[in-house]
Amino acid sequence: MEEYDIIIIGAGPGGLTAGIYAGRQGTSTLMLDKGPAGGLGLEVPSMENYPGYEMIAGMSLINEMKKQAIKTTELKQMEEVLSIKHHNDKFHIKTKNGEYAADAVILSTGSQHRKLGVPGEEEFLGRGVCYCATCDGPLYAGKKVLMIGGGNSAAQEAVFLKNLGCDVTLVHRRDELRAEQYLQDQLKEHDIDIIWDSGVEEIKGDNFVETVTLKNLKTSEVTEHQVNGIFIAIGDEPMNQLAKELGVDLDPSGYIITDKFQRTNIPRVYAAGDITGGFKQWVIACSEGAVAAMAAYEDLQKI
Ligand code: NAP
Repeated sequence: MEEYDIIIIGAGPGGLTAGIYAGRQGTSTLMLDKGPAGGLGLEVPSMENYPGYEMIAGMSLINEMKKQAIKTTELKQMEEVLSIKHHNDKFHIKTKNGEYAADAVILSTGSQHRKLGVPGEEEFLGRGVCYCATCDGPLYAGKKVLMIGGGNSAAQEAVFLKNLGCDVTLVHRRDELRAEQYLQDQLKEHDIDIIWDSGVEEIKGDNFVETVTLKNLKTSEVTEHQVNGIFIAIGDEPMNQLAKELGVDLDPSGYIITDKFQRTNIPRVYAAGDITGGFKQWVIACSEGAVAAMAAYEDLQKI
């Protein structure tokens, strides 16, 4: 079994920053990710609010952060953590490839896309149903798509799709958007139509999506829309299975509760990034990752 001072689970913006800090502090650290490093950060088409860059794509920033982190910290990608146990004052982590032990753990497991839960959503996944405009958008250039959601992600991704040449219409369940004003302004500037007060009833097609049925939630009017694709950006849900396994305290929405040093209720278990809930911003995830690594370092000196 390989032993480390710190194991970081999840290598998104929070986890990678924790890796940068932990490695530079001289602790032996391993970062594990079930996919490629980056998490949902890889899907961000462009960011205009990360300090130091007027605009940068999520994928580019992840690449830079990853290069920096692996100078001092080991990274294993495509290695999902299957279980985590705490005994004899160590954390024992089992992945599909091996077993590891650590004195401290930073949970930066992030969140996953929320599903609409309507007929056709699962059936047409990858055949017209998409959750990532950055990944799948280019396939829909010149085609007609709906973007579902009224938050920052939906607005940002709708603009991204429009810029790719998609004929995109936003669909929101209320009559006002949750998205920040600058993104609402961009929707107007790009002449993106919005269907208000409407929810998706069903997604239909043969091999690929052909129609989406919408219901006006105020009038109950049902309309059918011929489209080639439907992008869903209706928020996300915490990836908290490992936190639950360890007995980490969660808030009512399932996000990890921490103090201002990112410590959880379990000694030498910290949390950083989207898994802590609150404002889901890249810069906040990074900040939490740095704090978690520094707190872990401090606590490890006391063992
Ligand atoms: P979000 O802020 O939670 O917004 C989700 C949107 O989807 C809301 O408009 C919500 O409607 C709608 N929705 C939720 N469940 C739905 C359902 N079952 N059917 C239809 N609509 C539904 O999620 P997000 O936009 O993915 O953003 C996630 C986090 O990342 C947020 O904290 C956001 O600020 C952050 N983010 C920031 C940026 C940026 O700073 N530029 C960019 C992207 C994301 P209601 O409004 O009616 O609740």
